[in-house]
Amino acid sequence: METGRLIDRQRAFFDTGKTKDLAFRIEALQKLRAAVKNCEEALMQALKADLNKSEFEAYSTEIGIVLEEIRFTLRHLRSWTKPKKVKTPVTHIGSTGWVYSEPYGVALIVAPWNFPFQLAVAPLIGAIAAGNCAVLKPSELTPRTSDLLAELIKDNFPEEYLSVVPGGVETSQALLQEKWDYIFFTGSVPVGQIVMQAAAKNLTPVTLELGGKSPCIVHEDANVHLAAKRIAWGKFMNAGQTCIAPDYLYVHESIKATLLSRLAEAIKELYGDNPLNGDEYTRIVSQKHFDRLSGFLEDGVTLAGGGRNADKLAIEPTVLTGISWDDPVMKEEIFGPILPVLEYNDLTDAIEGIRNHPTPLALYIFSESESIQQRVMNSVSFGGGCINDTVYQFTSPYLPFGGVGSSGVGAYHGKGSFDTFSHKKSILKQTTLFDVPFRYPNVKNGLKKI
Ligand code: NAD
Repeated sequence: METGRLIDRQRAFFDTGKTKDLAFRIEALQKLRAAVKNCEEALMQALKADLNKSEFEAYSTEIGIVLEEIRFTLRHLRSWTKPKKVKTPVTHIGSTGWVYSEPYGVALIVAPWNFPFQLAVAPLIGAIAAGNCAVLKPSELTPRTSDLLAELIKDNFPEEYLSVVPGGVETSQALLQEKWDYIFFTGSVPVGQIVMQAAAKNLTPVTLELGGKSPCIVHEDANVHLAAKRIAWGKFMNAGQTCIAPDYLYVHESIKATLLSRLAEAIKELYGDNPLNGDEYTRIVSQKHFDRLSGFLEDGVTLAGGGRNADKLAIEPTVLTGISWDDPVMKEEIFGPILPVLEYNDLTDAIEGIRNHPTPLALYIFSESESIQQRVMNSVSFGGGCINDTVYQFTSPYLPFGGVGSSGVGAYHGKGSFDTFSHKKSILKQTTLFDVPFRYPNVKNGLKKI
């Protein structure tokens, strides 16, 4: 169906008020949950075909996260949707204050390829929960998963309520020409700018979930063994194609040698001696990204990994030392299984190094010292992160997830998703039992300059 007509039909459906009904939203989420459960097997196959994701990764980073997000939303939705009573100041005596959450209307969700199922469906859950209609544009780089998603939505929901429009850049650009009530975009910084410009035309509110270079600091007092394992896990899952993966390490020089040898061990433990030969290691999404990443292997000294398989588009978990900010690998978001290591002697230098670059989406600090942890928290701005872990913040529904500055605008997950897709309508309910005179001009007892 032509895009303009699809949006008109969704707006007409939204105007019937059906999507605002709590029972309707609950039923839609239950239906979505059942549909996802029904096609778990097909989803795993699609993710395998698109990215060679293992069943473990497909479930733990895509399907499981979506099911948990639905479960959490269903559990809390009734309370989230209730108008919230707020305090009133003494000047407002007699009145009460209320905040109503109302859906925006018709939302556009544009998704990337790296977690092609989860990053498309998680925002959709928020859109449904808040009572919106939605059009979803999944990534063209993961066609099997995107097609399956289109089928799943078509088989379970009328298109005037929820619809998937598959396609690439041109489709996305055509969709952005239309007037939406909300746009939720996940992807790269340059495309985020295009989205924001398109939204500005109609003053459409946006959430932009973008990327950037996320640092991971390992301080001299860190638990090095755990740090190495948690870094290897967060960096090399999905072959490093994770927006919040540690992009690079900043390691205190006194523990660098120990950390790097533990890191090499952890990589072997998690991904085996030869991940390129196994069938469980995620591949790089496209030839273009494979070539881009291969270029970075020229930088510095390869401490671990470095191997490639061009036929499989796979790159080994790789650690590079002897790196400086001037190397190409430090000039852009890596988004692949290559981990450059910088070192510092004085934490001030690491903090300065990070602050001299665009605000990261995530930051990780490994240190046993509360004061070091707090110093980093208080001196660097970033979307979110972990103390003594990596990536795990993403899976807590109690932690709103999003960027700041060039890494994004807005946040979602759990109640954050409901709030993102809801306009907060503030209402003052006034009494008619009496009238307080002091706000009126020219009345006896009115406000006067003394
Ligand atoms: P991308 O920006 O190239 O594409 C994202 C979506 O935008 C796709 O659906 C694509 O079709 C569409 N698109 C691409 N070019 C467009 C254009 N010129 N005009 C309009 N639409 C366009 O991003 P990607 O390569 O799919 O994903 C990788 C990037 O996304 C990385 O920077 C990563 O950090 C970021 N990311 C962020 C998050 C997050 O939650 N913050 C999650 C995943 C990925």
